[in-house]
Amino acid sequence: MARTKVSRMWALPGACLSVPRSMLVQGGDNSIVKLPCPSFLIEHPKGLVLFDTGCNPRLMDDPIAYLGEMARGLTVEWSKAETLDKQIRSAAYKTEDIKYVVLSHTHFDHVGGLTYFPRAKFVVGMNELRYAYWPDPDRRWLFPLEDYLPTRGYDWLELDRDFDLFGDASIRFLLTPGHTPGECSLLVELPNRNILLSGDTVHLREAVEKEATMPLDTDPNQSIASIRRIKAIRDMHEATLWISHDPEDWNEMPHQIG
Ligand SMILES: [Zn+2]
Repeated sequence: MARTKVSRMWALPGACLSVPRSMLVQGGDNSIVKLPCPSFLIEHPKGLVLFDTGCNPRLMDDPIAYLGEMARGLTVEWSKAETLDKQIRSAAYKTEDIKYVVLSHTHFDHVGGLTYFPRAKFVVGMNELRYAYWPDPDRRWLFPLEDYLPTRGYDWLELDRDFDLFGDASIRFLLTPGHTPGECSLLVELPNRNILLSGDTVHLREAVEKEATMPLDTDPNQSIASIRRIKAIRDMHEATLWISHDPEDWNEMPHQIG
């Protein structure tokens, strides 16, 4: 049987949030980092896969009404012309065409577009949904309930181990917990290169070699083990690591591959 492969991948832009480096990396200073919040659209003969869904467009209108007081001072750069549904259309697809939505984790900047895909199958790491519904009190603002409540009847597949999405090794779900209980990464085999999408397993390039955790990680020891895991996978599969929120990765990587 011929081996099916991913044909194309698009990095779809979303909101850009300005936050201090100290919020992203332990030991970081107070310099401001402009954080991209992309989603990734992956074309496979057996179905379209979306990795993450970006922020909720409500963030453009009134961040404090949506996230609460923690959003005071948060600068959001985003426009109504750049919402996820429009980005998918610009790749010549419709939201209804998305068959699988894989979530790196359930923080607000990754789940804001869940309701665009009521008929998709959602793939998420074990215990991630339960934690999103009932997080530790100091993290509650990161999980706006309004993003989850409409999705209780959705088709969720929770995974407690790595999973080969189509059985051909071209899209591999990899558990890399620590940032949240069910954080995952996705290894994508494209025609000419392998890309390891690491979600929020790590937040900035500088944190990879330092193996530096993020102050809001639920389990920092687990995070360090997961950072070591993605480094090993990157090296053993000769993959390019693409850190979702890293501005340099966003600027340097092609936004359409294949
Ligand atoms: Zn996160």
